[in-house]
Amino acid sequence: MKTVKDYIRTIADFPHEGIMFRDVTTLFADPRGFRMAIDQLLHPYAGARIDKVVGLEARGFILGGAIAHQLTVGFVPIRKKGKLPGATISQAYKLEYGEAVMEIHDDALKPGEKVLIVDDLLATGGTCEAGIKLVQRLGAEVVGCTFIVDLPELGGRRLLERQGVPVNVLCEFD
Ligand code: IMP
Repeated sequence: MKTVKDYIRTIADFPHEGIMFRDVTTLFADPRGFRMAIDQLLHPYAGARIDKVVGLEARGFILGGAIAHQLTVGFVPIRKKGKLPGATISQAYKLEYGEAVMEIHDDALKPGEKVLIVDDLLATGGTCEAGIKLVQRLGAEVVGCTFIVDLPELGGRRLLERQGVPVNVLCEFD
């Protein structure tokens, strides 16, 4: 039987030469693959209290929407700077070259709410770390971060776990 990893396509030299891009659109496009991924992402949280699912732009929206629907909880997007229409709080984080900024609506979470953060892939952890900070700055608690893919050589998992946030991944690529 195919695993989630089997549905992920690798595209060499995207977006830059030397990068092996792990493309989850082939997983999303397959009915069995997509269902398997959502089921496996949910599995560790059976019985856990989750009040909101937070998705990181952009593929975290696709996964997070499906997960929130399954849990019958609300979905909240964290977006790149300038995309959200209402009042936001911002968090800068480091990229390989330079800096980026993520934002969340300042009324999207209530203090004490328990939040699951979702994205497709964990690399250095910088994007998700910014997401964790935004959630915490609104007084909510991150009960976990969940991803389809981890690139363990880049150390993202260690970075997030050092902050006391449990990390769940479905597969790894070198
Ligand atoms: P990080 O901040 O270094 O952990 O990078 C993770 C972010 O970059 C996530 O939002 C991913 O969607 C994106 N990303 C980085 N590399 C890849 C890849 O190979 N495939 C898909 N997304 C990637």
